[in-house]
Amino acid sequence: MPTSGGRTGDRPHVILLPSAGMGHLVPFSRLAVALSSGHGCDVSVVAVLPTVSAAESRHLQGLLDASPAVRRLDLHLAPFDESEFPGADPFFLRFEAMRRSAPLLGPLLADTGASALVTDIALASVVIPVAKEIHLPCYVLFTASAAMLSFCAYFPTYLDTNAGRVVGDVDIPGVYRIPKASIPQALHDPNHLFTRQFVANGQDLAKADGVLVNTFDALELEAVTALRQGSVAAGFPPVFSVGPLVTVNLPAGEAAKESGNDYMYWLDAQPAQSVVYVSFGSRKAISRDQVRELAIGLEASGQPFLWVVKSTVVDRDDSAELSELLGEGFLERVQGQGFVTKAWVEQEEVLKHESIGLFISHCGWNSVTEAAASGVPVLAWPRFGDQRVNAGVVARGGLGVWVERWSWEGEEDVVSGEEIAEKVKAVMADETVRKKAASVGEAAVKEFADGGTSYRSLTEFVRRCRDLA
Ligand code: UDP
Ligand code: UDP
Repeated sequence: MPTSGGRTGDRPHVILLPSAGMGHLVPFSRLAVALSSGHGCDVSVVAVLPTVSAAESRHLQGLLDASPAVRRLDLHLAPFDESEFPGADPFFLRFEAMRRSAPLLGPLLADTGASALVTDIALASVVIPVAKEIHLPCYVLFTASAAMLSFCAYFPTYLDTNAGRVVGDVDIPGVYRIPKASIPQALHDPNHLFTRQFVANGQDLAKADGVLVNTFDALELEAVTALRQGSVAAGFPPVFSVGPLVTVNLPAGEAAKESGNDYMYWLDAQPAQSVVYVSFGSRKAISRDQVRELAIGLEASGQPFLWVVKSTVVDRDDSAELSELLGEGFLERVQGQGFVTKAWVEQEEVLKHESIGLFISHCGWNSVTEAAASGVPVLAWPRFGDQRVNAGVVARGGLGVWVERWSWEGEEDVVSGEEIAEKVKAVMADETVRKKAASVGEAAVKEFADGGTSYRSLTEFVRRCRDLA
């Protein structure tokens, strides 16, 4: 029987608050399904309106259609004058607009009878006080790696001890040293909008009731242990490693085929573990010159390839023609060898397809966790933000290889097609890389499944929600 507050019996009611961008929404929706279908919770997801990208709108609707038990709470953003931050990234602007709208959450959450709120890290410092005000336990979902979480927790202390000098290598106590070159570009500028948000969130993590992180112990034991032991930041709250969060009961390729996606049929026709899958995430990540060289490299590698090309930051702005992006005659020449698309692909399903042999990835953390869950080796080509830290996790954890000198946003170097082709051929021929990635995949599946460490972490989180409610 539902209670007056919307809870059913002793099922905890967990409210999830994602922030902007697919990289944040995807792990929240996977958590929603895991909690409601596998862990006996009532779940509501806050939909922040309007969404920035079309992909986000579709994804949110898809989650609600597929999971009628998951409810939706609409939060309409307060007006926000973007001209205060000329030229800023649209997703960073959205983080800021959402942060300024945090006071609206109080009235929205007050009568829901919720047991706990789980907020995205990007909103943590402004949401935790609102939750405390209404006596609602507040957890944070960290949507990137545990290495990045430890960096986020330690960075405010680093800045204090660094006393205004330029940011250098950051040696995270109990974890490892993050070289200067791997630190997200924005964080070198103390006045950058993202830096201010990042530092405020890092400082206030200690005030959360706990932090869920989308990783698993076998991949990042060092960072998870250091956080739990308080080596990174004293008094750090409990850490629940609950990943790799995956879409439960994903029918291999069927959903993608039902939506009429030809690339799945194309993959069916390729030999096992032969295809190089190339994607730099849900938004533009490489320059036009680099796109041309990558095209040359893929063609020269002689391997079949599936390449998802994005040419703008926000998908709604994308009107460039593929043939114009890739160079005269390219699409005709690679007919039979390659499949190139600007459309959204069902990446999780692609990575599960047996034809995939290698993933050239920008190492957005969701892409890394999806590769891990499928045991597909990664050729890391980080470009932006936390991606170099994630690429470091890929290389350390045996999920793949990273050519560290390959360019990073803000560096002018273009990697030649010839070099790309040689690297692809070498990695595809390396049996050790393949075996190590497969064993990471086995660990990932075991830990997320019933009885594994990530499953038990999520069970413990739910127990706390029930006890605190
Ligand atoms: N994604 C997808 N199809 C695409 C592009 C991206 O399914 O065509 C998904 C991808 O599987 C991942 C998310 O979008 O779950 C992107 O998140 P990630 O952290 O990898 O990178 P970001 O886009 O945030 O840089
Ligand atoms: N992040 C954070 N604090 C913030 C905003 C973001 O710790 O205030 C995390 C975020 O989850 C990501 C990393 O910092 O893992 C780098 O953020 P970026 O915006 O570069 O990545 P994205 O949001 O595109 O995934």
